[in-house]
Amino acid sequence: MQIASGCSEARPPAALRCRQAFEGICVHANGDVVCSIIDGRGDFPLGNVQTQSLGAILSGPRCSELLSLVLATRDSYCRAIGKPCPLKVEQVRACGSLARGPIRFLEIEPTTACNLRCLACLARDFDTSIGWRDGLRDGGLSFALWDGARRLKHYLADVLRPLAPQGTIAGASRLGRAAAMLRRGSIRPGRTGCLSPETIRRVVAEAGPAVERVHFFGYGEPFLYPHLVAALRHVRSALPAASIVLSTNGMYVEPPVEEALIREHLVDWLVFSIDGADADSYCKYRIRGEFRTAMQNLIRVHAKARETRLHVMWQYVVFRWNDSDATLRGALALAERLEIPIWFDFARSTWGRSRRKARDVEFLTPYLRSDSRLPGC
Ligand code: SF4
Repeated sequence: MQIASGCSEARPPAALRCRQAFEGICVHANGDVVCSIIDGRGDFPLGNVQTQSLGAILSGPRCSELLSLVLATRDSYCRAIGKPCPLKVEQVRACGSLARGPIRFLEIEPTTACNLRCLACLARDFDTSIGWRDGLRDGGLSFALWDGARRLKHYLADVLRPLAPQGTIAGASRLGRAAAMLRRGSIRPGRTGCLSPETIRRVVAEAGPAVERVHFFGYGEPFLYPHLVAALRHVRSALPAASIVLSTNGMYVEPPVEEALIREHLVDWLVFSIDGADADSYCKYRIRGEFRTAMQNLIRVHAKARETRLHVMWQYVVFRWNDSDATLRGALALAERLEIPIWFDFARSTWGRSRRKARDVEFLTPYLRSDSRLPGC
């Protein structure tokens, strides 16, 4: 699939693109195919694997449109989703002959089921039973105000959008970007679901042998997916050279499943998201989660995985309630004592992001996740 050609060799470099739109796909639990986990709302679906083959989706007009929209802006702003994208970081020539390659990065969200209600997580929006009052109860007044304003904006956008002139989701100008932000309403109905094992088998077969990495998670807790072990067995046997990554909140990891994952080497990386060094700093965001349970599960699985090829990681997302020196250094000390590798990631562009200055948390630099940066950097 060729797009955007005709530049001379003399043209300077300086445009950004993502790898995901060109070499990846993400399959949501309802079957929708989007570019990556960044489009968690499903704003720019390319097709649906319940009714189409991957080949038909990737050769379809929506896929060409996606590539054009990515390349329509030189900075990190992506017109497909109408906002900046943290994955749009690859430098390319501003124009040139660019084609979509084979799939190297495959993301599969097996289920959207999750028993937690993490603040500012998109999954709260999937559950229509969660309203603004829950925001007040779960996150206090500050979160409720932010969440209420967001919900009101979505509501107004839903009402007004049909009255506005139809057109592309977002223009590239400043005005177009502001309009895109204002037009973004509620998530379309039907975002939730659970992929059948048959659908996963077909997606994996159709994705082809070039797949290097499989992320078997999305919005939803993979350990609540009832066919987890069977599905991963299939992924492993169909794509033996691919690196398989699972990310969990750690609350539902249980011995029979973890033992199968380790014994059969069904995953290469198992990431426990535990954002805090103690119950207090953890529970502000991970509503309904328990620090003690998640940590016990991490410790147990890490111990079982010693001397195996499974890498077990502790991921700590830094927010403003868990970003004090004492808490961060406490997590580092705990990780060192337990001999569990830890990486930090700074929440950005969302409610609750840390306000620490980079120079004050420089001591975290060696422990940053590879795609993360200190605040303001
Ligand atoms: S730049 Fe756009 S297409 Fe690429 S990953 Fe980000 S949101 Fe998706």
